[in-house]
Amino acid sequence: MWGSRLSFFAAPFLLAQRGGGAAPLAKNVPKQFRNYFIFFLMFGLDMDDNYSILKEYQPQPEIFIMVKFSKANAKIEALAKVPELAKFLEGKRKVYSFDLLSGFSCPFAEKCLSKAVQINGKRKIKDGPKTEFRCFSASQEVQYTNVYNSRFNNFSALRKMQHNSDDMANAILAAMPANTGIVRIHVAGDFFNQYYFNAWLTVAEQNPDKLFYAYTKSLPFWVDMVDPKLGIRLPENFVLTASRGGRRDDLINSLQLREAVVVYSEAEAEKLGLEIDHDDSHAARPSLRNQNFALLIHGTQPKGSPAAEALKILKRDNVKHSYSRKTATV
Ligand code: SF4
Repeated sequence: MWGSRLSFFAAPFLLAQRGGGAAPLAKNVPKQFRNYFIFFLMFGLDMDDNYSILKEYQPQPEIFIMVKFSKANAKIEALAKVPELAKFLEGKRKVYSFDLLSGFSCPFAEKCLSKAVQINGKRKIKDGPKTEFRCFSASQEVQYTNVYNSRFNNFSALRKMQHNSDDMANAILAAMPANTGIVRIHVAGDFFNQYYFNAWLTVAEQNPDKLFYAYTKSLPFWVDMVDPKLGIRLPENFVLTASRGGRRDDLINSLQLREAVVVYSEAEAEKLGLEIDHDDSHAARPSLRNQNFALLIHGTQPKGSPAAEALKILKRDNVKHSYSRKTATV
């Protein structure tokens, strides 16, 4: 009996907590009178009815936190023209990316490290102490508010579940568009912890008809997948590239991981014996999963830096090195 009475007297408090809510009978009552209205309404009801009302107004646990995929940008959209990848795009399936806030989600970034930070209400680029070539996606986040917001939201949502791989995998699976064929994991951002890396493994395993690929500097999480007898084991449809310029580049050499190197000119790539990837096909094609390649410097580079000088020369010589369209969420 006391339980029922207590619930009864707790009702206005619960209702106030929920901001008045929208109970069917109360929704047309002005907000400021709504709690009193429901209090008096309950006074005339039996305990079962009161219990139903209380139940409706109990704060509900947050089951799903929504994350969002983005439509392909100009560079990764070009994957549609690569014959080896055609089977993943059959039936009008599409290429998407899934992005996080640059720099903040990249625990092993070093030479590329930049972040979009808020200073006096404005977003500005902030390079890391050892930045040599500025992160292209961080510059996008300074320029485009919707891009910043969507990556910020994805990162915030996933960090709330950051020690639970299954929850993160479920959130990603729930958000993946039905017509997905290929996913570039992270045009922006990186694997921020082992649980998150493992969540993507689960997503790939559960979708063997889709292709997932990523560049990463979070090499310790990749390496954690090493089986002492069988070597590195990843799902067939999960293609990774180690992105040189991070804090654990030593692992690229010691474990002979497939890598991408940023170069300042076509001549530099040639000297290294590397093909330049202009359309993400080297990064995505499963048949090239063991072949190193180069990426030409692009984006907006720190004034006066060797990277900025290299960009000037690429522009002067009309060498293709930039990819225009910003990402849009779906
Ligand atoms: S790891 Fe990638 S997203 Fe992160 S700062 Fe470096 S270039 Fe940017």
